[in-house]
Amino acid sequence: MADRYLRFTGTAPGRLLTRRLGLPQPAALTRWSPERPALDGGLRHLTAGRSALDLAPVLARTGIAPAGPDRSAAVVLDASGVRDVEGLAEVHAALHPAIRSVTPSGRVLVLGAPLDPADHHQAAAQQALEGFTRSLGKEIGRGRTVNLVRLTDASAAESTLRFLLSPKSAYVSGQVIEVGTPQEPGAPQAAPDVGRPLTGRTALVTGAARGIGEAVAETLARDGARVVVLDVPGAEQDARRVADRLGGTALLLDITAADAGARIAEALPDGLDLLVHNAGITRDRRLVNMPAERWISVLEVNLASVLRTTDALLKAGTLKRGGGVVATASIAGIAGNAGQTNYGASKAGIVGLVRSLAPRALAEHGVTVNAVAPGFIETRMTAAVPLFIREAGRRMNSLAQGGLPVDVAETTAWLAHPGSGAVNGQVVRVCGQSLLGA
Ligand code: NAD
Repeated sequence: MADRYLRFTGTAPGRLLTRRLGLPQPAALTRWSPERPALDGGLRHLTAGRSALDLAPVLARTGIAPAGPDRSAAVVLDASGVRDVEGLAEVHAALHPAIRSVTPSGRVLVLGAPLDPADHHQAAAQQALEGFTRSLGKEIGRGRTVNLVRLTDASAAESTLRFLLSPKSAYVSGQVIEVGTPQEPGAPQAAPDVGRPLTGRTALVTGAARGIGEAVAETLARDGARVVVLDVPGAEQDARRVADRLGGTALLLDITAADAGARIAEALPDGLDLLVHNAGITRDRRLVNMPAERWISVLEVNLASVLRTTDALLKAGTLKRGGGVVATASIAGIAGNAGQTNYGASKAGIVGLVRSLAPRALAEHGVTVNAVAPGFIETRMTAAVPLFIREAGRRMNSLAQGGLPVDVAETTAWLAHPGSGAVNGQVVRVCGQSLLGA
């Protein structure tokens, strides 16, 4: 799993040689740790157009000190008031002189507004921010990320801004995230316990005996959740080890079982706040060589069981109001991948599920539905990929490296945060801005 190239380019001779040869220059990313909970430096707040957002108090609550023009760990450009091409000139005028000041592993966060269907000039200008953000993400380098958040209410987006302006979002770049209005007007957005925002909440993570699922369970437990580690009976030893370490419980169950939803509901009589559909399998073959059982098994684990258990737990009322569902898609479900017609179909199905169910689940059950879409993540699954394809997968993104399971876990923890109730129906790629499907 070790990325030897990343280590090599971290040395002076490695940097010199790879630069001379024109090879990718991945920067060692700064990730969250108890010793390093915040970005290393201050924040600049810039504006283009006439903004109606009440942003300053929200940025002040992030605790990141204001930065001068010379050096900043984060630049937030509020472009939500840009309504025409002239307004876009202000985007250039604001960011052009500021980009150089952003430190390695720093953040550029562009804030936009939803597209106005009644004003095509506003829609053109706001859509332009998307192309701008994605292009800047591809050229900025040095481990810096660039994301766009479309919002109308700054306080409803507080948890999202905090996440994107922290080391927790190290591998999230080139994303466009829409934040709606608060789930319940007047409801407090900040969790009572800032350090452990999921205190008192129960989270079930499928496929949590290892890999990404294990990291998700660990991160949700760090944030205070009581975790239920679900995995197949064959993974009992690992599932119990993870559950014991996190002070949670193991639930040994094949998620494709017809009664999986009923058994989860039975195991959780006090209900569930967060359901993370992480279990997934691959059975790769080109379609010409793919027997039906390979097709069926992937669609069953990755999609049908997600639909079935979500339906069952919503219907049974096991998923509590104020809770959420986080499903796992993949960039293969967005870009497609040779040899993965079954997997790509199953993961694209997750995107469809999220888009359709999210508004209804929120209206009828008070539950948000979102997905993470990992790119190349360093796990046992990707360590088994042949060397050449593995190297291509690792480098073909704006950060020129694979992500870590914790990157997907931190994104899930942000979606699970009690202050993220206005984030609904989003598919957030954790892919370092993969060039595939970008
Ligand atoms: P992994 O193979 O390491 O872990 C998957 C876990 O799911 C295992 O513990 C397995 O026992 C469990 N599982 C499989 N079938 C199950 C079933 N029927 N019932 C219950 N549990 C079951 O995989 P990973 O790399 O950690 O991936 C986790 C998720 O992320 C998957 O949905 C995968 O498709 C997705 N993903 C991974 C990557 C990556 O680069 N690793 C990229 C994109 C998407």
